[in-house]
Amino acid sequence: MITRNFGIPVTSPGAILRRERDLGTPLGQETAEVLQSGGLVSDKIIIELIEDWLRLHGGHGFVFDGFPRTRPQAESLNSILKRLRTALDLVIWLEVSEETVRDRIAGRLQCGECGFTTSSSSAQFANRAVCPYCDGPLARRNDDDLGVLQTRLQEFRSKTEPLASFYEELSILRRTDGNRDREVVFSDISQLIEDKARHDSD
Ligand code: AMP
Repeated sequence: MITRNFGIPVTSPGAILRRERDLGTPLGQETAEVLQSGGLVSDKIIIELIEDWLRLHGGHGFVFDGFPRTRPQAESLNSILKRLRTALDLVIWLEVSEETVRDRIAGRLQCGECGFTTSSSSAQFANRAVCPYCDGPLARRNDDDLGVLQTRLQEFRSKTEPLASFYEELSILRRTDGNRDREVVFSDISQLIEDKARHDSD
């Protein structure tokens, strides 16, 4: 939604690694087991992915989804951006309850081609499991499982949650209630992006 509305390229290490796995590349094979278990892939691999992606696509703004997830990743990102003479404008922290997470992964469908995400309860897609944007196949993720979710939540609490205070100290963190419908959450996110852009052009 951010790419479509603002023309800002978005990347997510999770999406890159799922694609590598599906293509059977050495990187995909090396990381498939960690993804399936709900653990975190090594910081070294993730940072290399992000550096490569930034070199190719990051010249005119970017959004990261699911990155950084650890303090070393956040510190490396700061160093990379410093080298590129830029910095993060905004960190959007989506607050969701465990119940919301459980409900969403139970029904989540994702496009194998472009990564578009929807839910199986969305009537429009229930009868034909193809992506409305690229006609790719919509399927469940193999880590969308309640057992795997427990590991993912533990990793989040121990390694990712502390990043909120890291970015709060840099005064760039904005919290948003992510339990609401996606259109309402997206409207809040759009507002944050527009406010930031307006502030920068003043
Ligand atoms: P996601 O698509 O963001 O839910 O990520 C799916 C999986 O990819 C995670 O459970 C991790 O195994 C791996 N992954 C994605 N992003 C990261 C990251 N920043 N650091 C470590 N592992 C990651």
